[in-house]
Amino acid sequence: MKIPAFLSLLAGALVFGPPAFPAAGPRFYGDPPDEHHPWAVHDGNRPQPPRVTPGTFSQPERPGRPPSDAIVLFDGTDLSKWQGEKGGPAKWLVRDGYMEVVPGTGEIRTREAFGDCQLHIEWAAPAKVEGEGQGRGNSGVFLMGRLEIQVLDSYNNVTYADGHAGAYYGVNPPLCLPLNPPGEFQVYDIVFRRPIYRDGLVVDPGYVTVFLNGVLVQDHTPLEGPGGHMGRSKPGPFPEKGPLALQDHGNPTRFRNIWYRPLPPRPAEGGTDGWLSTEATRAKRAEIAASLRADAASLKNPDNPVPEMLRLLESLVYADDATARQRATELAETHLARLQALPAEQLAARRDEVRHLRDVFRYLARHKIVPDDFAPKVAVEELIRAQGWDKRRP
Ligand code: MG
Repeated sequence: MKIPAFLSLLAGALVFGPPAFPAAGPRFYGDPPDEHHPWAVHDGNRPQPPRVTPGTFSQPERPGRPPSDAIVLFDGTDLSKWQGEKGGPAKWLVRDGYMEVVPGTGEIRTREAFGDCQLHIEWAAPAKVEGEGQGRGNSGVFLMGRLEIQVLDSYNNVTYADGHAGAYYGVNPPLCLPLNPPGEFQVYDIVFRRPIYRDGLVVDPGYVTVFLNGVLVQDHTPLEGPGGHMGRSKPGPFPEKGPLALQDHGNPTRFRNIWYRPLPPRPAEGGTDGWLSTEATRAKRAEIAASLRADAASLKNPDNPVPEMLRLLESLVYADDATARQRATELAETHLARLQALPAEQLAARRDEVRHLRDVFRYLARHKIVPDDFAPKVAVEELIRAQGWDKRRP
C-alpha cells in the first residue's frame, strides 16, 4: 500500500525530529553569508531569539519583578545565595524585603561566580543623614569582586567626582547625579563586560555601562583594572568569573531586588551570533550547511524532487560541497525535463512555481554560487521565454 505523502512527511518528522535550522523567513533573498557573517541578511534559517517575559519596574515602596530569565540573587527574603568575606554565613540583616549592612561584619559576596552580565540592584542610603563626603551612606557594588561601582549618598553631598554614586570608583565619575533623597531606593542597571587578554595582549579592554534610576551615568566606559582608593588603576586581565560583592563601609546601607542575566560571548571569544571571526564564521557556515543537507535527505521524494533540491541548493549558499551540488543539479535537470514534457495546460498551471525556480537560480548565479550558465538556470529561462511568461501583463 502506498503511504500518502503527508503521512510519510509526518513519519520523517518523527524519525528525524525538527531540523536544527527550521525555515522561518524568506529563502534566496538577502545577501548571502560572507567571511564574518555566517547568516544571510534576513536569513530564514537563523534561530529565533528566545522569548523572555519582561519584569515590572520598581516603585519606591515596592521592588519590581525580574524578567523571566533572570537569575535572582536576593528576592528580599534571605541571604542563602550570599556568604561572608571569609566564607561563613553573610551576617547582614534581612527584614521587610531588604538586606542592610551591619557595620563591622565585613563585605558579603555571592556564592555563585559569574562574568559578563546585565545586573540589576537597588540600594538606599540611610534616611538619617550622617557624615560628609565618602563617610555618608557609603557602600559599593563590586563586579566580579573587583571593580567598584560606588554606592554613596550623593543626593546633597560633595566629594571627589570619581567617588560619587555611579562612579567607577577611582577611575571615572558618573556623567551626572540623578539621585533620589536618602532613605529612598535607587536603581542600578549595569551592563558589564570583563577584559579579555590573549598571550598577555589586550583583545578587548572590557566595558561597564551604568544606568542610575534610568539615567545613563557610565557610557560603555573602558575598564582600567579594579579601580580603588588613591592608586592609579592599571588595565589587566580578569579571570572568567568572580563573585558579586557588596561593601561594608561602616554605614547601614540597604539593598533589594538583586538579579542578573549572563551575556553571550563576544566575537573575540568565538561569539554565537552577529559579527564573528573568520574561523568561527567558517565553522558556523559548515554547521548550518550540514544541517540543511540532513534536512534535504529527509525530503527525498521521487514524485516531487523540488523540496530536496531547494534545500541542497540552499546548503551551497553556506558551504560548497561537490556531492550536494551534483545531487541538486541532477534533481533540477530531472525536474525541468519533466516540466518541459508537460502538456501546455498542465504547464500553465505551474507558472508561479517555474518563475520561483528561475528566481532561485538567478539569486545563486548573482552571488556566484552557481555559474551564470548553470544548465538548469538556462533551461528554466528558456522555458519562461518560450511561454511568454517573461512579458509584462498588458
Ligand atoms: Mg564604596
